[in-house]
Amino acid sequence: MTGEAVSAPLLVLEDIRKTYASGGGVAVEVLRGVSLTVEAGEFVAIVGSSGSGKSTLMNILGGLDRPTSGSYRVAGRDVSELEGDERAALRRDGFGFVFQHYHLIPGTSAQENVEMPGRYAGLPAALRESRAAALLGRLGLGERRHHRPNQLSGGQQQRVSIARALMNGAPVILADEPTGALDSASGAEVVALLRELAAEGRTIVLITHDRKVAEAADRVVEMRDGRIVADSGRRSIPAAPPPAPAERHGPASVRTSAGEAFPAALRSLGANGFRTALTLLGIVIGVASVIALLAIGEGAKRAVMARVGALGVNLVYVLAGSGDPRLPTTPLTEADGEAILRLPNVESVMPYLDTPVMVRYGNIDHRTSGLATSASLPLTHRWPVAQGAFFTTADERAGAAVAVLGHNVAKKLFPNGESPLGRHVQVNNIPFQITGVMGRKGDLTGSQDTDDWVFVPLSTGVQRLVGKPDLQLILVSVHDVGRITRTRDAIRKLLGERHGQEDFQIRDVTARIKAATETQDTMTLLLGSAAVVTLLVGGIGVMNIMLVSVTERTREIGIRMAAGARASDIERQFLMEAALVAGLGGLVGVALGLASGALVGLFVMPVLFTATAIAGAVTSAVATGLVFGLIPARRAARLDPVAALSSE
Ligand code: ADP
Ligand code: MG
Repeated sequence: MTGEAVSAPLLVLEDIRKTYASGGGVAVEVLRGVSLTVEAGEFVAIVGSSGSGKSTLMNILGGLDRPTSGSYRVAGRDVSELEGDERAALRRDGFGFVFQHYHLIPGTSAQENVEMPGRYAGLPAALRESRAAALLGRLGLGERRHHRPNQLSGGQQQRVSIARALMNGAPVILADEPTGALDSASGAEVVALLRELAAEGRTIVLITHDRKVAEAADRVVEMRDGRIVADSGRRSIPAAPPPAPAERHGPASVRTSAGEAFPAALRSLGANGFRTALTLLGIVIGVASVIALLAIGEGAKRAVMARVGALGVNLVYVLAGSGDPRLPTTPLTEADGEAILRLPNVESVMPYLDTPVMVRYGNIDHRTSGLATSASLPLTHRWPVAQGAFFTTADERAGAAVAVLGHNVAKKLFPNGESPLGRHVQVNNIPFQITGVMGRKGDLTGSQDTDDWVFVPLSTGVQRLVGKPDLQLILVSVHDVGRITRTRDAIRKLLGERHGQEDFQIRDVTARIKAATETQDTMTLLLGSAAVVTLLVGGIGVMNIMLVSVTERTREIGIRMAAGARASDIERQFLMEAALVAGLGGLVGVALGLASGALVGLFVMPVLFTATAIAGAVTSAVATGLVFGLIPARRAARLDPVAALSSE
């Protein structure tokens, strides 16, 4: 200690007045000019009947409350003007409070209650733990460290609260009616304990209305109607020098951590599980529906993409007809195809002319589709032949009666595993020799089963099956998909010139992909807005439970403030709780969303869950908690410590 600090008395009150505005605007003066000096190491009892202003005085001494006028100095430092964090620091490091009703935080163990001020002082966890255990051991509660307040007797709870007051090594203990709620034996124990602390050199201010209790002190100050009416003066000299202040670990090194906020949040939620469940419903439903709907949307998108992909991203479709049946049309011809093949970037051109056919082998009849096309089909469609070979350009030129069977047709006509190669089948009663069987392709267009075709050379098909050479479609494959748009435009220009009008339609898969993604984007936007609305509703739910929680735990907030919690500590704690609550709702929502999405996937349509959607939903839930927890947390942080402590 510095020389100055030794010379200045520890606590000096000068002409302290405290006025409350009572109902009707009449001011009530509760303290009427109190002047009192307490030296370090003194054990002072303040006695007086109920309502004489003792508690008001103690709250001012401990920095919980401020006087209306007068000066108050602690170790020479004027504290009546201290604000916010400085005041919190004074309570945290300077004073230990013991209250009549113990004011332990319900639901947490004796050990945690004692450790609590250490958290706000920034003590490392290990030190906090060992110090709290040592204090509890010393006060005879070593065995009951893990008991909760409601598992302890009044006397035991009061000893826990004394241990808590000693946690940060405060030089001054302020005890307001510490024996008031105890039976005489427990009361005597508590007084003996205070006596012991005084003997170690700690400064004790003991407030009591009981003169017998006051006799334990070295000095008795009597109050009546807000004034000091008697002061016995000091009766003895302290036996030991004041204890060295406990190790400090910086004012703000350790803050309220998730480790503390999480159990606190669960406790306050668990206290009324049904109410919590109801209020979290908004977030749960919001998150669940977003997850499920996004999974459905993704599933649908993937199905569309798969179908579009199967059509071939390297293909340009040239369709005959403008789409308007009233307009005259020039038919698409093989010559058009040959002209297209000469354009740059064009890899192959495949004419397409289909017709219903009846195929027969032996006594098996099969009604299906015939496609008259060119030898380039396997290349254009990237579609391998499974057995034998596709017909050739020579077959085409010769108008040969050859055919290639689709996978399903081959199975149908040759059910016994006999090889179709070289056999003759009747197509519309005309014999065709089979040169090959296609590999399985699956659904190409979404409307026709591509494995159900019989392929014949265009010339043969035109002459023997269809009768006229008008193509329905020309499929063009390109070398460089990146230039497909330019190639498409070149085809349009070429055909427009050849036909003298635009009596055809040109499509490529990029347009379909674009259309599919646009649909998806619209869906995502709709889902997004729905999600925002549900999360807003959920957020209001969170705000609601947090406001209720703040109200229900007002006393706890007061206790924490008395132990030295800064406003920011309280705010952080409630914000964390709000985030945890909302996050919990989010997790339940994810589980529900996964479950319902999976059900849809099993019975209705394909779904696809993405990690991004799940992470995004949980993150938004937590963010909602933080945003909507802000008002309740601010409200908690702004509570007045005295009013909070005296709340029911
Ligand atoms: P004691 O602890 O000696 O019983 P208190 O300090 O609690 O006395 O109260 C002194 C007087 O101040 C009482 O009459 C009480 O009603 C009044 N009082 C205390 N707090 C308030 C308050 N917040 N508003 C109005 N009056 C108050
Ligand atoms: Mg009182």
